[in-house]
Amino acid sequence: MIERREFYINGEWVAPSETNDCHVIDPSTEEPCAVVSLGAQADTDAAVAAAKAALPGWMATPPAERIALVEKLVEAFSERAEDIAQAASMEMGAPIDMARQQQVPAGGYHLKNFIRAAKAFEFDKPLSDRAPNDRIIYEAVGVAALITPWNWPLNQITLKVGAAAIAGCTMVLKPSEQSPLNAMIFAECMDAAGFPKGVFNLVNGDGAGVGSQLSAHPDVDMVSFTGSTRAGTAISKNAADTLKKVHLELGGKGANLIFADADDKAVKRGVLHMMNNTGQSCNAPSRMIVQAEIYDQAVEIARETAEKVTVGSAHDEGRHVGPVVNELQWNKIQGLIQKGIDEGARLVTGGPGRPEGFNKGFFVRPTVFADVTNDMTIGHEEIFGPVLSIMKFETEEEAVAMANDTVYGLTNYVQTQDGERANRMARLLRSGMVEMNGQSRSAGSPFGGMKQSGNGREGGIYGLEDFLEVKAVSGWTA
Ligand code: NAD
Repeated sequence: MIERREFYINGEWVAPSETNDCHVIDPSTEEPCAVVSLGAQADTDAAVAAAKAALPGWMATPPAERIALVEKLVEAFSERAEDIAQAASMEMGAPIDMARQQQVPAGGYHLKNFIRAAKAFEFDKPLSDRAPNDRIIYEAVGVAALITPWNWPLNQITLKVGAAAIAGCTMVLKPSEQSPLNAMIFAECMDAAGFPKGVFNLVNGDGAGVGSQLSAHPDVDMVSFTGSTRAGTAISKNAADTLKKVHLELGGKGANLIFADADDKAVKRGVLHMMNNTGQSCNAPSRMIVQAEIYDQAVEIARETAEKVTVGSAHDEGRHVGPVVNELQWNKIQGLIQKGIDEGARLVTGGPGRPEGFNKGFFVRPTVFADVTNDMTIGHEEIFGPVLSIMKFETEEEAVAMANDTVYGLTNYVQTQDGERANRMARLLRSGMVEMNGQSRSAGSPFGGMKQSGNGREGGIYGLEDFLEVKAVSGWTA
């Protein structure tokens, strides 16, 4: 069993102030695979103190030097890619090939996008040609607490650390206690890249402990959080007394509007997108809203597609989907599948229990429900598992109303070959992102939500700006 009880504080791996072991469970086997420590207030304080002490020097470091260190980080990260993939796969259940091809590359991709964006960014510029003595200076928000989830761990860590580092913030990362190992290897990459002491610190812990300590800490200027809406609310309340800047990336209940004139791969694409990462993505297209003319056909394609999705251990190579992250999530998903049945949705494939051939591991049957409505629990609650809800619409107006009838607003999807209609939908959908006809967003495109999906943007120039304050200076000597 792996033993990694130390935290990375002020450029060194240090023992926790108190013994508080936490077992990391391998969701494929349900067996403990590692032991880490959960930090106490003294550990949080030490990490925040290190970040605070490093702040003046790091803020004053020219952006080009900060960018150069992130370039070193990209190299270090790429050298450790296989170790990181193995760790993430074991602790959060992404099948190893998927971890190698999606989970880990997402990290390098975001770091490179930040570098590109930052090289073109003017950190210091005149207000306008008409006001040469007014200067706009972008400067670091300060000490940032970065609280990340387990579902796309490297994606989230790099979106926060990359932006914070280039912006000149110093930081304390608290990764999810479900998936601390990949984050600890990431910390080794930060060390190898040569960031000055205290710029980056890592303390493991849970939400009630280190998470809450960070979000209330008087010396933390900003919290950047990704995870559940529940925790986002708790963090916002906790941060209110010290009026921190709070950046939230929360849950979603994405609608995938499939019009009768959609391309013939649209339904299959939507199902596979839903099942990717075992349904554990905040931007999953979990409500497939289909026009009446093609509804029955779409349900049939969804059934066939979901039945071809194979489930397997995260340790096995191949294109299967893995288990969900832990017992709590497994039980929650089982409860929601049962609720779907009880509330009258039509179970098309999948259903409660483990897939055939499994009696251990947090495996879930790829499940499709049809005839779902937004008022059913599975129609409005985020399931965070491989469960698709199909709904029917008649008119464009009805489709928009159904899509927007949710507390969330992260990503919606549109499938139609009528370009004008697609563009009209993009304007009407209340979400931070709209993806149309299977085209993914390009490098540097901002990721983030509206309504209860959060309030910040991550990635590229938008992500960088979230870690910067705008300082307006008059009387500048031009
Ligand atoms: P969570 O929100 O509880 O945990 C995410 C991170 O927040 C972890 O690092 C956790 O330790 C920390 N945290 C939890 N409570 C906190 C608090 N009060 N103060 C500070 N930090 C806190 O998510 P989870 O339990 O891992 O998953 C539960 C649900 O969250 C899922 O079913 C899913 O709906 C949602 N979720 C969403 C995302 C996303 O990307 N939007 C990611 C993970 C989970």
